[in-house]
This record gives sequence, structure tokens and C-alpha cells, in this order.
Amino acid sequence: MAASGSERVWDAAVVGGGPAGAIAAWRAARLGLRVVVLERGRFPRDKVCGEFVSAEALPLLAQAAPELMAAAPEIAAAEWITLSGRRYAFPLAPAARGISRWRLDAQLWAAAGAALAETRSGAIVRGWRPAPRGGGELEFTFAGHSERLRARALIVAAGRWWRVAGLPVPGIAPRRAWVGVKAHLAGIPARALQMFALRHGYCGLAPVEDGGVNVCALVRADAPGLSGCRDIVHWLSAAAPPLAMRLHGAAMARPVQVTAPVYLGRGVALPAGVFFAGDAGGFADPFTGAGLARAMLGGALAAEMAAAALAGDGDVIRAAARHALAVRAATRRARRWSGWLRRWLTAPPPWQDWAAAALARGDMGQSMAARTRWDAAAGRR
Ligand SMILES: Cc1cc2nc3c(=O)[nH]c(=O)nc-3n(C[C@H](O)[C@H](O)[C@H](O)COP(=O)(O)OP(=O)(O)OC[C@H]3O[C@@H](n4cnc5c(N)ncnc54)[C@H](O)[C@@H]3O)c2cc1C
Repeated sequence: MAASGSERVWDAAVVGGGPAGAIAAWRAARLGLRVVVLERGRFPRDKVCGEFVSAEALPLLAQAAPELMAAAPEIAAAEWITLSGRRYAFPLAPAARGISRWRLDAQLWAAAGAALAETRSGAIVRGWRPAPRGGGELEFTFAGHSERLRARALIVAAGRWWRVAGLPVPGIAPRRAWVGVKAHLAGIPARALQMFALRHGYCGLAPVEDGGVNVCALVRADAPGLSGCRDIVHWLSAAAPPLAMRLHGAAMARPVQVTAPVYLGRGVALPAGVFFAGDAGGFADPFTGAGLARAMLGGALAAEMAAAALAGDGDVIRAAARHALAVRAATRRARRWSGWLRRWLTAPPPWQDWAAAALARGDMGQSMAARTRWDAAAGRR
């Protein structure tokens, strides 16, 4: 293990070891930076997520963790099933993959370590004291002790909810609260991504490795009967008869995970001088399953821009500002379209049938899905 404590200055410190943080640490280490990544949890661990990994992240994933790709089922088609039970299908080209967070996060964490990033799980970052010309000192607790380290660049990849003294708490726009629910099922087949309209949200089914099926729903927190509900899969079935038929015969393979509240399109105040990657920089509507790709691509870009600044004029404050602009540009189109697509497809019947029929016509669905993806060209401009 590399030396810790205030005597050592790391090139980069990463807060959070989810997909954004692990990829940032992996990429930074591969670029020759001395990088440490601090994660409060431990891997493997489960997480509420549809586990649909969209195509634009797959080349990066194949570099970082090729063994993940070998086991991950391809998802080459999507179906939208309205409350009336009608099905609307469109192809996904290039194909996406289904990968459980249990496996994805653990393997990315291992990839960061294998690339010689210093990986510390069980380390909770508490504070950040910025230095005037960039970089600063990070305070964290590890095994019950308070520790500090200095880094020339800081990448915050701490997900939707984080609090680090010295960094402004992300602003939460007052919006409707949602509840995210996930389970893994066995005993039913799945090849395509299937999305079911519910009365108060939607629910997706996607294949993951080893023949497993991810079922993940986003439901309005004020949906009748949800609060205090003990059998959420039963509740979901009752919320949409077509979904009940689809879940018939399924067995629960892993315990249900719940996350709440979820605020869609949460705005954040991003402090200067720090790189933000993934949900820590703003949580977008997860409807189109682009969050993981956004997290990984944004994390890799943060590492690349930090490395370029450290090898060049050393101005990480300017590099962080440029990274924020690049991420905003690459995600602007997606942020706009994901929300609209969800609203159209979950509109009250018969509007949702009308919207789904329009999307299933020709290559409309395909072209709309493309608009919800990381726009690499815009990010480079
Ligand atoms: C219901 C739902 C369904 C979704 N479905 C999909 C989908 O199908 N496909 C898709 O692409 N996206 C989906 N998403 C979005 C996706 O889950 C996120 O975009 C993705 O997890 C972001 O990764 P991240 O690394 O930014 O954050 P996270 O995965 O949240 O990782 C952040 C890490 O930081 C750690 N951390 C936090 N604070 C600290 C601290 N102070 N010190 C140390 N560590 C800290 C946490 O423990 C965590 O491990 C979904 C989201 C929801 C809510």
C-alpha cells in the first residue's frame, strides 16, 4: 500500500468508487497519475438501478474490464408496453448490455486497483480544504480514525447524495419525489429490454448475466398504497395488469432494494476547482438508461483533463471548469429528451398508446433514443 498521511501529495484524489469514480481512478492511473480513490462502502454491493448499460459506454468498459463484457447479455431490442397491454417494439442498434451492479461496480473497482490506483473502501470523505492555486487537503475517516491527504486535483464522484465540508451542498430543486425499486428475478426469460407503463411511473425488465432478470421501477412517492408496502413486487403487479402477467412464475433471486427520495433532473451548484463526475454533477432522468454511460464517460474525461492540466500548465481550476462545460454540452440534449420521453410514454391512456405508436413507427424510436445518449461531439466542441 502506498504511504498515506499529509506528507504525500497525490496527483488526484477521487471521492466515491461507483462507476464514475472507479473509471476515473482507472483512467488516471493508466495515464500515469498517482491516484487514490476513497469509497465509503465495500464491494460487491447491490444498488437500485435498471442495470442497462447503453452502447456508448461499452468500448470504455471493454478496455477497463473486458471480463464483464464477455458475461453480459446483449440487449438489441426494446419494447414499451402500455397500460392497455399493447406492445410497441423498436431495435437498439448498437446493442446495449445488461450487467448487475453487484458485478459491474466490483469489477470496475478491481480494475482501478489493477491499474495501480490506490483503492480504499470503508473510507468516508468528510471535508475538503482547497489550496488557492488548485488541489487541496482531503479529510476522511477510515477504520474509525480521522486521516488527511493532499492531492493536486479532486474528482468528486459520490453519486446523488453527498456531503463534504468545504464543498457547497448540492442544491435540490423542489420537485416531485420518486421512489426507485429494484429486484433480481429468476425463472422467467428475458432478452429484450421491456418497459411497462404503471399508473404512477414505469417499470423495466432487463436481462443480466447468468440468466438473471433485473426488474426496476421508478414510482411516484405519493402513489396510493406505496408507503408502508411490504411486498413491492406484488404492488407493482397490481399497478399494471400487463406487468403482472409478465412476472407470473418469477422467483425472487435477491432481496428487494429501495431508494428514496429520487428527484429527477436535480440541479447542483458546482464549486470551482473540483471535477464532478456521474450523478454527483447532477442527476438526470434515468428513464432512458444513460446514467451509467454518462458516469463512466464523464469520469474518464475528468481523469484525462486533470492529467493534461497536471502535465501542462498545472491549472486544474481551469481544467475543472472546462470539464464541467464539456459534460454539460455532452449531456444537454439527453437531459432535455429523457424527461420528455418519460412524460409522453407515461401520459394517461390513450395518450401513452398514441406516443408509443408514433415512436415505434420507422426509425423514430431509434432516433429518439439516440438523442438521450452522451453526445461526444458536443462535449469536444
Ligand atoms: C431507479 C433508477 C434506475 C436506474 N436505471 C439505470 C439504468 O438502467 N441504466 C443506467 O445507465 N443508469 C440507471 N440509473 C442511473 C445510474 O444508477 C446512475 O447514473 C449511476 O449509478 C451513477 O454512478 P455514479 O458513480 O455517479 O454514482 P454511484 O453509483 O451512486 O456511486 C457513488 C459512490 O460514492 C460513494 N460515496 C458517497 N459519498 C461518499 C463519501 N463522502 N465518501 C466516500 N464515498 C462516498 C457511495 O458509497 C457510492 O458508492 C438508474 C437510477 C435510478 C435511481
